[in-house]
Amino acid sequence: IPASKKEEKGRNIQVVVRCRPFNAVERKSNSHGVVECDLNRKELTVRTGSATDKTSRKMYTFDMVFGPSAKQIDVYKSVVCPILDEVIMGYNCTIFAYGQTGTGKTFTMEGERSPNEEFTWEEDPLAGIIPRTLHQIFEKLTSNGTEFSVKVSLLEIYNEELFDLLSPSPDVTERLQLFDDPRNKILERGSAKRKTASTLMNAYSSRSHSVFSVTIHMKEITLDGEELVKIGKLNLVDLAGSENIGRSGAVDKRAREAGNINQSLLTLGRVITALVERGPHVPYRESKLTRILQDSLGGRTKTSIIATVSPASINLEETLSTLDYANRAK
Ligand code: ADP
Ligand code: MG
Repeated sequence: IPASKKEEKGRNIQVVVRCRPFNAVERKSNSHGVVECDLNRKELTVRTGSATDKTSRKMYTFDMVFGPSAKQIDVYKSVVCPILDEVIMGYNCTIFAYGQTGTGKTFTMEGERSPNEEFTWEEDPLAGIIPRTLHQIFEKLTSNGTEFSVKVSLLEIYNEELFDLLSPSPDVTERLQLFDDPRNKILERGSAKRKTASTLMNAYSSRSHSVFSVTIHMKEITLDGEELVKIGKLNLVDLAGSENIGRSGAVDKRAREAGNINQSLLTLGRVITALVERGPHVPYRESKLTRILQDSLGGRTKTSIIATVSPASINLEETLSTLDYANRAK
């Protein structure tokens, strides 16, 4: 790829990695650490040999690397802030969390609440990208006096079927007024529906894709008194677990045997490859996920992929698989 093309492309698709801390299961299993993060050099090194083999290793370079001590606010500031600025300028953008189940996709996208209701949801240090983004949209647009309205939708895709978690009607968007409700009604409604889905469908949380979209309509009056209308959209996507597709990015034998063919995840990989390689045909229409995101992927849009990995040797295979997939999207 010529340098100029690469530079241009580099601005549009960004790939970052986040490695979470060890968890209790990994500590108990006597698993050793195999991932080393160099935040400054944006490098991630994986030890691929046995615990005593210090020489077999694989190194990756990404646009950013977040180690186990990275905080939610660090990810928000470095990855999301620049993208939100684009959205407020009137562009469509998408942020994906991609990785093995249990590595922190939902933690990164939604985040959690600290115990004892110690903080309000927008001040909670554990709050993830979605609550921070919503809060920031209101902060930014209120402070600069723009007339604006915000709509959100929350869709989930399971086995190529679409579920609308917020609205009982076919209209998938919902006015955000409800979001100012201190009891957070919208998210409650979403999580109640998700709970039902989980009890009805096998491995719902690891096999489904969750697409949270915020659309902002903005009206500004220019200096010469003209009305300027801008519409920006941000999609925050918590993808199905990457163990649902094989190492090669295709459906391998292992995934097929487990019945884990995930059309949307496969097609997303192909769409991103086509965008990165500037292929003549981008197969948006081959999955539900890429059809939903078609207006926010490619062209004058910004895409960030946050690949999440575990630090422990017991997850080595999946970690390499995630990093190889992420590496292809660069
Ligand atoms: P996924 O959505 O990828 O399946 P989760 O977000 O549910 O994974 O994370 C699994 C567990 O790991 C959760 O209990 C979560 O609190 C914890 N976790 C994930 N990432 C981090 C992190 N960066 N720091 C601290 N805990 C994390
Ligand atoms: Mg999850």
